[in-house]
Amino acid sequence: ARERSARADRLESLGQLAGGVAHDFNNLLAIILNYADFLADQVSGEAADDLSKIRNAAERAKSLTGQLLLFAKREPTQVEIIDLNQVVIEADELLGRTIGENVRLVCRPSAGSMPVRANRGRLDQILLNLVINARDAMTDGGVVVVETDVVTISDGPAAPLPPGRYARLTVSDTGCGMTAEVRDRLFEPFFTTKSADRGTGLGLATVYGIVGDAGGTIGVESAPGIGTTFRILLPSATPTGDTPADPSSGELAHG
Ligand code: ADP
Repeated sequence: ARERSARADRLESLGQLAGGVAHDFNNLLAIILNYADFLADQVSGEAADDLSKIRNAAERAKSLTGQLLLFAKREPTQVEIIDLNQVVIEADELLGRTIGENVRLVCRPSAGSMPVRANRGRLDQILLNLVINARDAMTDGGVVVVETDVVTISDGPAAPLPPGRYARLTVSDTGCGMTAEVRDRLFEPFFTTKSADRGTGLGLATVYGIVGDAGGTIGVESAPGIGTTFRILLPSATPTGDTPADPSSGELAHG
């Protein structure tokens, strides 16, 4: 457990560092774009072409730092009691269309409702990032299954989280899987095996941060050539607003 929390600390400080750098870069890029706009009125011909290349590159850089800032953002978002099953049902309708021809999305929310204390937009983000990664891992087609169920964690020295009821979100794919080396690093910000125009390496770092903030944990199982399964546990919230487990005492809780 000590090893895991050192790892959580390391990821947390990497995130803060990345956020600080992104913030400064964003300001510098705004200056570059400002001057490029200013110059655009004064040049023509080849110089105008060159200038528009500078502008485009700066715009791309700005969109990257924007993603980075989104990832690093630790300011509290509005948290409410949300039915995780409803999030899954709506994701089924939305993502089903964007996921591609040869990849099938199967959503199996548990019966009834699964209240968790979280921010709606951030829960959507978790599902989006995991499903997009699953799609990217299945270039030859396959199935991604999204499921929910309830698990109870009892007290004990090996318990990964405080005792109580948890909502479990499982996203599994039949994709390329990953090696142990990739598995060890996949939550690190900027770690990606994708080409620069496809991956930022921020998707899972973002998911990790959101889950930690909500007092939960995320685990992964993967086998090269067979597929990958992500499991997320979030403290279950009763409709009255009580959580059986205090999120702030969760080992991975931060922010
Ligand atoms: P990105 O998708 O931009 O690369 P992520 O943080 O979302 O960044 O993922 C990091 C890396 O983890 C990916 O580049 C990929 O190598 C690996 N990965 C993530 N999800 C899966 C998956 N479902 N199957 C196989 N590899 C995955």
